[in-house]
Amino acid sequence: MVVILSYDRTSKNDQHKVSNSAQFNHCRENSISRHGIEPLRFSDKGISGGTDQRPGFQSLQRAISELKEPAFLYVWRYDRIARNVNVALKFLDLCKAHQVEVVSLSEPLPSSTASHALKKMAVQLLFINADMQRSIISENVTSGMAYRRSKGMYIGSQVAYGYQLKKGKVLLDSVACENVRLIYSLYLSGEYGYKRIVQSLNEQGKTYRNRPFKLHNVTSVLSNEIYTGIIPGGQFGQYEGAFQAIVTNEEFQTVQRIKQSRSSNKKDSEAYPLRKCIECPYCHRKLTPKMQKTERAVHRYYYCANVECQGIFINKEQIEQKVYTNVMNFFSSEDSLDQLYQELDRQLTNKKNLQRKTQQQHKRSKKSLVDQLESGEITSAAFKQALSATSTEVQPTLTITREELRQAILANNGIVLTIIMAQLEKVMITTSKTIKGIYVRGLLTNLLEGKTDDRK
Ligand SMILES: [Zn+2]
Repeated sequence: MVVILSYDRTSKNDQHKVSNSAQFNHCRENSISRHGIEPLRFSDKGISGGTDQRPGFQSLQRAISELKEPAFLYVWRYDRIARNVNVALKFLDLCKAHQVEVVSLSEPLPSSTASHALKKMAVQLLFINADMQRSIISENVTSGMAYRRSKGMYIGSQVAYGYQLKKGKVLLDSVACENVRLIYSLYLSGEYGYKRIVQSLNEQGKTYRNRPFKLHNVTSVLSNEIYTGIIPGGQFGQYEGAFQAIVTNEEFQTVQRIKQSRSSNKKDSEAYPLRKCIECPYCHRKLTPKMQKTERAVHRYYYCANVECQGIFINKEQIEQKVYTNVMNFFSSEDSLDQLYQELDRQLTNKKNLQRKTQQQHKRSKKSLVDQLESGEITSAAFKQALSATSTEVQPTLTITREELRQAILANNGIVLTIIMAQLEKVMITTSKTIKGIYVRGLLTNLLEGKTDDRK
């Protein structure tokens, strides 16, 4: 019998990111579809990944060291495990020692057949910079985040529908909260979609802030975790637990699962490594991914979304294959391999310097905290809490050698594609869709012609 674990984490200022429950649902679905069992969940909410002093993470490590059989650990993304390279690497070693296979759902690497060394290399490279994530986060996750961000949280004195703000306290609004309950119960009945709920509410003469209900009012009510009594972090953190829930956590989670299952046909889980890379030959805007579904097949493209442009559509698979072949040819020469290695090394060094700075800041604030505690300015509880936020980070070290990188490129596995694709800065094409230039970050060369770049 195999054991399935899952770990999800959000940090304090993560309100624009994918929530704990969304991360868990993603892990849970994969666990059920691949292994037919529920995962054992470990979770940390509102805690930085820079420290390993996280209760959920600590129990996860304990659970792993007590394992008697092989296991899988599902995470939404590698950086959920840690934001600190050394913590992540140490954790991977622990997993290896206890036959735990770490599976990251948003990153197509490394495959389960990859060697432990290759995995560690991948994890280090993932930490290089946030840009690295660009190519590996699938389109729907990104748009989900943008949606949450665009929806925003609560600005100023505006509180969520269903509540009212009275003398700084969030109280139930009796009429509106009845409507929220109604929306949830209609949706949970399984017989109502968004449109029918809007219809039904308006027919009953119910209103949303004195206006007829609109579709987006209903969708936002059904996706707002606040109704479970939890304010999802951010500036309203001080209200946590200070107001009443309108629906139970279970009801809320069930709604999210129904929503996910209904929208699954529309979702595109493919990674688009060339998004924001290919330049439109007409208007020079970067092309956007697009999926079209017909009854028979799914078509994926990169296309120009500029409405004023005459536009272009390029088949995803074909262009990716062409870019890939060119890139691989280029990096088969020792000289260009050196350049790539130097560039990766430079980026890692920058990252390390940045971490060193943060560490120094943390040291300083730690000292000032001790001073504040001694002078009685803060309580010992507040001191402890603040201290855990400034835990000292260990310096990461680059353990990939140039030779390992060369081996990985020669072995031609997916990991290299991801690494290099993430380094792409620009792909130029002609109006007849042939590639005329490929530029990699840090290399002032057009990969196609080997010419030195003459851009400014
Ligand atoms: Zn265009």
